[in-house]
Amino acid sequence: MLLCDFHIHTTYSDGAVGLRRTVDLFGQAGFDVIAITDHVVNGDNPLGKLAHRFRYSVTSDNFYRYMDHVKEEAERAWDKYGMLIIPGVEISKNHLTADQSAHILLLDIKDFIPACWSYEEIFLTAREQEALIIACHPHYMSDMSRDTLFLWNNRAKYARHIDAWEIANRDDVFNVVSLEKYPHVANSDFHRPRHLYSWKTLLNCEKNILSVKQCIKHNKGVAITLFRKSEEMKW
Ligand code: ZN
Ligand code: ZN
Repeated sequence: MLLCDFHIHTTYSDGAVGLRRTVDLFGQAGFDVIAITDHVVNGDNPLGKLAHRFRYSVTSDNFYRYMDHVKEEAERAWDKYGMLIIPGVEISKNHLTADQSAHILLLDIKDFIPACWSYEEIFLTAREQEALIIACHPHYMSDMSRDTLFLWNNRAKYARHIDAWEIANRDDVFNVVSLEKYPHVANSDFHRPRHLYSWKTLLNCEKNILSVKQCIKHNKGVAITLFRKSEEMKW
């Protein structure tokens, strides 16, 4: 099965590691498929404006430069490691309360989508671009300052737009996702090297973007696994 991580940040947003070194870390660790998903933060409130000020967001100004750089690294990763890289973003709707906040991974995105758009606009435009839509860390996390509950609380309205939900993010598992039987994936939400060791997805499909998207969407041949350094395995 393919060892995958679909949620990875670099210095294009608030990650600590540059894109090239991030690719090498995952390539050397033996990954088959990764997605680079830097934040696109809403700029329509003080929290979002702060993220823009500190350059913790991909913006309409540098989106295509970011995409070109990811594609350039994708070619290098394929030649050097046989690793597939999917270009993506994490649409980050940050608000003061967890109930209003939501983060959404768009994998295989082609054109810029602003995070301040309505959910409907974001989902429909992502669908037009044939991007895969994943609801990130949808429930309570061990780091409570990062909780994003909007999509879970409003799942009756929005679940039909969402291809998969993160059932695990880094060290946290959201068993509510399995109770609803939603399609699921598990990701690191990589921001620094130690996050390499976290929950991951295993896929039983061919190593190309179309097969990966279909496999996640149909959620057949999908497993999650805890990827740890061997000395950290203490069971
Ligand atoms: Zn997030
Ligand atoms: Zn993230």
